[in-house]
This record gives sequence, C-alpha cells and structure tokens, in this order.
Amino acid sequence: MDYFRLRGIGVSPGIALGEVLLTERVIFTERKESISPDKVEQELKRLKRAIKRTKEQLTHIKDQIKKKMGEEYSFIFEAHLLILEGKSLHSDFERIIKEENCRAEWSLSRVHDKYGKLFESLNDEYFKQRKSDITDVLARVYRNLESVDQKKEDEGREKILVSHELLPSEAALKLSKGNVLAVALDMGGQTSHTAILARSLDVPAVVGLHNISQKVKNGDTLIVDGTDGEVLVNPPLAIRKEFLSKKQKYNDYRKELRKTAKLSSLTLDDVKFSPLANIELPEEVNLALSLGAEGIGLFRSEFIYLQSTSLPSEEDHFSIYSRIAKEAYPYPVYIRTVDVGGEKNLPQLKIEKEPNPALGLRAIRFSLRDKDLFKIQLRAILRASFQKNVRILIPMITEIEEVEEVKLLFREVKDELKAKRIKFDEKIPLGVMIEVPAAAAITDLLVKEVDYLSIGTNDLIQYYLAVDRSNEFVSYLYKPLHPSILRLIKFIIETAHREGKEITVCGEMAADPLSAIVLLGFGLTKFSMNPIFIPRIKKALRSVEHKTVKRVMQKAMTLKTAQEIEECIIENILAKHPEAFLMGQVI
Ligand code: PEP
Ligand code: MG
Repeated sequence: MDYFRLRGIGVSPGIALGEVLLTERVIFTERKESISPDKVEQELKRLKRAIKRTKEQLTHIKDQIKKKMGEEYSFIFEAHLLILEGKSLHSDFERIIKEENCRAEWSLSRVHDKYGKLFESLNDEYFKQRKSDITDVLARVYRNLESVDQKKEDEGREKILVSHELLPSEAALKLSKGNVLAVALDMGGQTSHTAILARSLDVPAVVGLHNISQKVKNGDTLIVDGTDGEVLVNPPLAIRKEFLSKKQKYNDYRKELRKTAKLSSLTLDDVKFSPLANIELPEEVNLALSLGAEGIGLFRSEFIYLQSTSLPSEEDHFSIYSRIAKEAYPYPVYIRTVDVGGEKNLPQLKIEKEPNPALGLRAIRFSLRDKDLFKIQLRAILRASFQKNVRILIPMITEIEEVEEVKLLFREVKDELKAKRIKFDEKIPLGVMIEVPAAAAITDLLVKEVDYLSIGTNDLIQYYLAVDRSNEFVSYLYKPLHPSILRLIKFIIETAHREGKEITVCGEMAADPLSAIVLLGFGLTKFSMNPIFIPRIKKALRSVEHKTVKRVMQKAMTLKTAQEIEECIIENILAKHPEAFLMGQVI
C-alpha cells in the first residue's frame, strides 16, 4: 500500500491513527444483468435476505444509539426502518425482477431512479432530504446483496471518517455516536459549523483536503493530525511510532494545561478576564466548567433543530435551556436564538432555496419572518431564566428596526407569561451579536438599545473581507489580524465600554492565543470559545501584563499588514513568554 501525505486545514486538534471508513456512495448499476426465468425465485430470496439483514443492522444501530445517546439521536434510523418496511417499495422490487428476469441489483437501481426523479421534481428542500434518506436505505440493501459472510459490521467500530463533505446535521449525528476517531474531508474551512462541532466533541479533524475521498479506500490506515492539518495515508511503522509519541506528548500537555482550570483568571497586573464557553449541546456544560469556563458565552440553539426531523416544541426548548442554566448556575448562560440558514439549512423549517444563502434569510431575519416559531423560543428562554443566570442573544442583526421588532415581541411574550403567572427573570439581559459590518458601523447607536454586545468574529470577518468562512479556496484571505478587522473590532469594543456596556467576543478569534492577546490589548475581558481552547487561552492571558499588551497594540495598529502585526506581537509579547505560548501554538 502506497504511503503519501496530504495537507489540509487542521480544524480540531489532536492526533488519531485508525482505519478509513469512507462514507462512500454506492454506485447503483446502470447495466441490466439478465437471469433465466428459473432463477427468479432464487433472486427474490437473495433480495429478501438482504432486506432482512438491512433491517437487523438498522435496528441494531438504532438501539445502540438510543442506549448510548438517548432517544432523540436514533430518530434517523427509525425513519430508515419505516422506509425499508414500505410495501410499495417491496412490490416494485419484486415486480421488476419478475417482469424483466433480472438481478436484484437492477431492480434496486430502477427503484432508486424512480424515487430520485419523483422527489427531485417536487423541488422542495424537505423532500430533497427525504430523497437522500431513500438513497441511504437502498444503498444499504444494495451492499447487503453481496455475500453476507464477507461483510464486516462497520457500524459501531472505531474508524476515521473520510468524506467529500459533511453537513452540520450529518456531523451532529455521526460524531455524537462516539465511534469516530477523527474526520478528514475534501471540503470545509476553519470556522465551518462542522469544524466547530468536531472541536466541541473533541474529535481531531482536518478539512480542505481537496480529494482525499478519491485517494483513499476503506481499510487504508490513516494518521489524522488535526493539530498540524496533515493526513498521512498508509504510514510505515517508523512514522506511526513517531506520531504515537507526538500524540502522547499532546495528551500529556493537555493534562498539564487543564490544571490552569483551577487557577484565577487574572493577568500578571491583576486585570480580571472571564473565559466563557461556546457550546452546541447541553452535554458539553460539565466539560466546559471542568476546563475553566466561567459561564456559557454562547449556546448555539439551532443545534436543537439538527437533532430531530420534526419541529421542537416549547417544552423541548425549555427542557434544554433549563438544563443548561441549572448545570451552569451560578455562572451566566447566553442563549442565542436560532441561527439557521447559510450553511445550516434545516429541512423541517422549509426555508426556500436561495441563490446566496449566506446573504439570505439567516438567523434573526428568519425568526422575524416566522414569528410564531420565534415566540415559542423566546417563551422557553424566558421560562428557563427564573434563576436569573440566563441572557438572550440575537444573531445577525443588521439594523435598529430589527432590534425594535425583537423588543416588541419580547414584551408580548413577557406579558403573556405574566398573565399566566409563570415565573421568569423580569430583567433578563438582551444583547445582540455584531457580525454584520453594517451593525458594526452603528455600534454607537445599537449599544444604546441593548444590555450588552457580543462580537461574532467568524461571520464579521467573512462579511467584512468578503471571504466565505467555509471555502478552502479563499481561506488564505481569511485573516483575523487584517488591519481593517482590527480597526473595526477596536471601535466596537471601545464604543461598548464608553457606554458602560458589557462586550464579549464569541467567534473563533477568542480561542487563538495571539488574537486573544490583541483583543485584550483593546480592553476586552470576556472571551467565549470552544471549551477545549479555554485552558490555553487562560494560560496565555495569565502570562501577560495588560498594560504592556495595550502599549504593544498601539504600535501594532500603525502597521500595514496582518503579517507585520503578527510579527510585532510575536516579537514584543509571545517571544518574551515562550512557556505560555510555545505549546499554545501547537495545540
Ligand atoms: C460568529 O459568527 O462568530 C459566531 C460565533 O456565530 P456562528 O459561528 O454560529 O455563526
Ligand atoms: Mg455567526
């Protein structure tokens, strides 16, 4: 087996060694293989065996997931079982085999075609999604037509997932099963939601590998180095040993870093800062607190929708919010209202196909169109606020009118709850995310309307620099230290402070030691990030003096390029504290 290395973008740190599991697509045959009429009965039996085996597999996976992860995660396999049991599907298979005297593969291929065309003609995202479910089920039957003996059960075994692309919904499902050692994808960028999810679940991941899904096959051995953004295919023994020792060092360092969780969050000159956690699942709260989080700075509530094919009820929302608020208490929890659209399209919300989804009906734009859904969410958040540690955060605000409309709806929901004598925090803070350049430019006006601000640097950088955050072809332009970005962020932070309002950065920038230093230099003290990065940021910020950083940033702001700014910070700060930053760079 040939040994080669591929370079990509390391989006979730850590090293894993394991066997490839390609999320391969079965190619349904285009060639009809005929059989003699006396073989038809035998072929029908072969098909029945494959269906039976598929049913057993699906039931097994469904039960395993239910046991390990809970009912809500197993829904997709429930749906697949229902598809498999469909009477018309079975009669279609049999009819084709009998009428055309052909192999079962051909009947599956024909049926797959028929449903494919049918769903496609409906031209609706929801049904398109159902089409891929049918493909999933038929592909499984198709694979099971091969000799059963030579098949191994892949599900449940620990593998490295290799795929062209992984949508956030697929990622939520696949990665939360706990049997994925690492992920290697052709597509994706540092701040794509799949990358964020991989980091949250502590699964090493390298994306932007262009064509790894075509270059490897099932059974190949891979080393995925999510720290350095490299994938090694079929490495020889000496290289494996080298990487296993690197993995050991990495794990030891992480253990070491975690000790900072118990130390105070103060700079050398005693300026207090607060590390907060960005989470997608309630299960992450305890991990975040154990890593030193002093609150949940961002709960991406849209992930509630990614775990079910139907719409969550107010009770579903409430049980998740109140669980997070309870587990994080007395620390604050910032619940962001749904940020759907863009890369996070959810079939059950039936958002129309848009030519340019990143500039389309995303986040608050969607919530203000579908006010009933929005009010359900607001009610649930308010109900979960009775312990007074919940805050509400609105994503993708572009103009003041949106804030006014949100406040109006908020008032309505509060009045409804009061009328029903349901307890909630009357003074629950309302904040907005600054992630659209237009909102950034009117920070001075917006900040007067709300209790606090949170800068979403992932989107702010994407929109300000016109660089798609999940497109690897332009990722070289995605520069958080671009002087334009730094000027903008400095303005936002200083404006909020001038008004005496609280401000947090909750984009990935807060998780990068060098960028975090920059933000500290602008006066930022609240850093919200993926929990696994908290120890390294805490260690970095504890190693510097706020007043020195501030002075260095004054000088850095006179420079012309991201590279010059980076060099200035390395030379004047990082190089002076090698113990705090050396390993911080590695992780
Ligand atoms: C951001 O845009 O920086 C952010 C935190 O929101 P998300 O990554 O969920 O778009
Ligand atoms: Mg955002």
